[in-house]
Formats: sequence, structure tokens, C-alpha cells
Amino acid sequence: MINRGSKDGMRNLTGVNPTSDGIESALGRSQNPVLRVLILGGTGEGNELASRLAQRMDLLAIYSLAGRVSAPKRPEGIVRVGGFGGVDGLGAYLVKEDIRMVVDSTHPFATRISRNAELACASLGVPLVAFTRPPWVQTKKDIWHEVVDFEEAARVVDSKKGRVFLSIGRQEVDRFAACHNAWFLIRAIEEPTGPLPDLHEILLRRGPYSLDEELQLLRDYSINYIISKNSGGAATYSKIQAAQLLKIPVIMVKHPVKHLVRTVETVEDVIVEIDRLVHRNRTTR
Ligand code: NAP
Repeated sequence: MINRGSKDGMRNLTGVNPTSDGIESALGRSQNPVLRVLILGGTGEGNELASRLAQRMDLLAIYSLAGRVSAPKRPEGIVRVGGFGGVDGLGAYLVKEDIRMVVDSTHPFATRISRNAELACASLGVPLVAFTRPPWVQTKKDIWHEVVDFEEAARVVDSKKGRVFLSIGRQEVDRFAACHNAWFLIRAIEEPTGPLPDLHEILLRRGPYSLDEELQLLRDYSINYIISKNSGGAATYSKIQAAQLLKIPVIMVKHPVKHLVRTVETVEDVIVEIDRLVHRNRTTR
């Protein structure tokens, strides 16, 4: 149990992240009585939300990134980078920075941070607004083979010995290291660090990509399978549209269930929830 008020509770907390230290002193909490909001980010929607909240005078938003890429897209306003140290570390951060609301706008496949946020917020009684992008829905034009995880995706493509476009970011590329038959075009923002499949080429690029660019890429590399996470949203959908047009099968890794709490699906709805909490905070002060 994390305790906001008692000193004993505070002593039990571990893993305070040093990257947060500057924020407290720079802002001067006592001179700044506005509601402090932590946005757990890593998505375009999170960036948009943080930039919009940075314009407001009635709250102060801190945007948090895991630090997965060395030059992330940063929104306007305050940004901190790096893990908190599990549930306890996140709880300690919320107490230390006097955070009164958390917005989870993390990637649909980032399940651990969402779970940590639910536990830390529940333990401290901090309101949590959880955003989840709806997953893409298969249309009549799509040829999808849905799988539950990357291991199943690896088994499916390796048995087919095709030319595979692996477009899942760099973190889970190592799950394909045991593939010896399929050839992989691995596209990521930065070089994958783990073991790689025998047959591959790496393409270091950062999106967004237009439909024409995706069509060109699939043709240039004679791709006959695509592996994608079902991340939803518009930012990476052009590769799915390109696959529809070229009739290329997509091995689609299903969207995990990552929230136990109620979620909202648009940035506008997140702002409605925030406004409700800001209003409640004002009337109870
Ligand atoms: P995760 O498994 O949910 O989180 C792992 C740990 O990373 C968390 O426990 C936390 O460390 C830290 N973390 C994650 N998001 C954070 C944030 N916004 N601020 C501070 N710390 C954060 O997430 P993941 O390992 O980053 O990624 C899992 C999947 O999501 C992958 O498929 C990845 O490609 C996809 N994804 C993630 C991001 C991203 O920005 N994280 C962006 C796009 C896609 P502590 O426990 O130490 O607090």
C-alpha cells in the first residue's frame, strides 16, 4: 500500500527516478498551486494532448516517456524520460511531484506501464484517465491471419518461407531470431539490439509513411507477408492499406487487453475527463 500522507508510507517507497528531480525545484510547488497532471506518453495522441495541456493555466502537465528511442518526438511543455522503477517507483514519483491526476496515453502494446499506473493510482487514490486507441478492424479487402503474440507470428511466417516485412518496432524483433527459412525486411527507427533472424535486411526509418511510399517499399522488396501489431490509429495504417491493394497477407498480432479501468478512445474525451476532475478539484478546495 502506497501512502501519500504518512512518513512511514513514504519510507516504504522505492525506486524514485532521478530524472524527475529537476522538475520539482524548477517549478516551485508552493508558488504554483495548479493541479499537477502526469501524462504517460509514447503515442501521437499523448504528444497532442501534452501540447494542448501545455497551453493551459489551470493545470500543469508533465509528459513522461520511457526513453525507447534516443531522439523522441517531444511535445510542448515539460518532458521527463525514463522508467520510474515499477509500481512503487511510480507511486513515489506521484507523491514526490504532488501529482493529482494521471493520464495513461501509452502505446496499446505497452501493457506493463498501464498496469503499474492502475495499481499506483488505486493505491494512492489518484484519479486515472486511461486512453486506448481502438484496434483496426478487418475489412473485406484485408487478408489477415490474426495471432496472439510474436512467437505465433514467427512460427507462421517461418513455415511459409516467404519475404516478410517486419514492421513492429525494434523491441520484439528478437522473437524472430529462431526463424531460419523466411527472409525479413526489418524496419525500425533505431537498430535492434537483440538477436536477429538468419536472413534479414534492416531499414532504419521513422514514419509517418504515405500510402505511395508503402506501396513502393512492398513492391521494391517483393514482400509477400507483413507482420504488424494491431496498434490502431491512422499513423501506421498506410502499410495495412498498401497490403489491401497488393493483396498481401498480414500476420496481425492482436491488440492486448491492457486496462482494467474504463477507457476513453479520443484525445477530446481525455480532455473532457480532465476538465471534470479540474472542476471537481476547484469545488472541493
Ligand atoms: P511496457 O512493457 O508497458 O513498459 C515497460 C517499462 O518501461 C515500464 O514498466 C516502465 O518502467 C517503462 N515505461 C513504459 N512507458 C513509460 C512511460 N511512458 N514513462 C516512463 N516509463 C515508461 O512498455 P515498453 O517496454 O515501452 O513497450 C512495450 C510495447 O509497446 C512494445 O511492443 C513497444 O514497441 C510498444 N511501444 C512502446 C512505446 C513507448 O513509448 N514505450 C511506443 C511505441 C510502441 P518502470 O517499471 O521502471 O517504471
